[in-house]
Amino acid sequence: MKRILVSGGAGFIGSHLCTRLIKDGHYVICLDNLFTGSEANFAHLKNNPNFEFVFHDVEYPYFAKDIDEIYNLACPASPIHYQYDAIKTIKTSVLGAINMLGLAKRNNAKILQASTSEIYGDPIIHPQIENYWGNVNPIGIRSCYDEGKRCAETLFMDYYRQNKVRIKIIRIFNTYGPRMLPNDGRVVSNFVVQALQNQDITIYGEGNQTRSFQYVDDLIEGMVRMMNTEEDFIGPVNIGNPMEFSILELAEKVIRLSGSKSKLVFKPLPHDDPKQRQPDITLAKRKLEWQPTIELEEGLLYMIEYFKDYRS
Ligand code: NAD
Ligand code: UDP
Repeated sequence: MKRILVSGGAGFIGSHLCTRLIKDGHYVICLDNLFTGSEANFAHLKNNPNFEFVFHDVEYPYFAKDIDEIYNLACPASPIHYQYDAIKTIKTSVLGAINMLGLAKRNNAKILQASTSEIYGDPIIHPQIENYWGNVNPIGIRSCYDEGKRCAETLFMDYYRQNKVRIKIIRIFNTYGPRMLPNDGRVVSNFVVQALQNQDITIYGEGNQTRSFQYVDDLIEGMVRMMNTEEDFIGPVNIGNPMEFSILELAEKVIRLSGSKSKLVFKPLPHDDPKQRQPDITLAKRKLEWQPTIELEEGLLYMIEYFKDYRS
């Protein structure tokens, strides 16, 4: 049994990760300030003797002993939430990385950074491969998140080179699944909630921009495999589903699969919205022996079922 700390463990991805790690027989400390996470997300773990929730903001140092592994996920991930308090977002990414790396250093723990495809910005290289440095606006409305995450990767690499901290970096591409909030603001949850209520489906721009959507269970498997790779494999490695769809195609699928009467409405495209995104997962396939197993339509059906039964 390992003692594993998950920062951001009360969020959408974090709560699935905590569940998986408990199931694998580990002791899990979930550290979260409940900004976008909730107690409901870990209600099923609350009485488990191997689970501990600590209300804590990663902007401030955290001390604990005998930690074997850390997964650093604390950071709002939806544009509406990370832009709500942009300065807080960048502090969470940068100071959070420093504090979690310091904790890893004191414990000689392995630490995995939940980085993002936003590292690539509005990519000119397509599909995105890990050695592409990206095309990121440093002064735009997405920069608090994108540059915060880029700086966190830099910190991970410098703690690795300078302090020999045992690091792992994954770059997560758009992920969806149960426990996303109905007001999360990201596209899959927005469209499913709108479709189930027969409300207008909000397409930003003309809907020709593309994304590659990964179901959360596939991501969790990739994360755990990455943590367990040999010591000298540190990444970064892309974790995502390479099937690429336009936002219009996504809307059409959601309407069809939910039997909705919703119509499409077109809204202004947010600034710096990336035009295309698709992971090259050759490295993950080779090093983790991993690839996604849940296709978009199957995952959307799970999302539709989840939001049909959703009670706030
Ligand atoms: P989420 O918003 O559901 O989860 C983030 C969690 O971090 C929440 O529980 C929130 O309360 C917590 N948090 C935020 N600021 C904090 C702080 N200062 N101190 C402590 N806790 C804090 O988002 P998610 O989709 O579950 O994303 C989890 C991680 O994965 C994030 O780091 C995100 O950048 C990364 N990621 C997610 C995606 C995706 O598509 N979901 C894609 C790329 C990267
Ligand atoms: N989007 C949309 N309607 C919505 C929410 C998002 O058309 O109601 C678009 C958004 O402009 C972007 C894509 O869907 O092009 C994915 O947005 P999301 O916020 O989910 O993720 P990100 O832009 O961070 O990849």
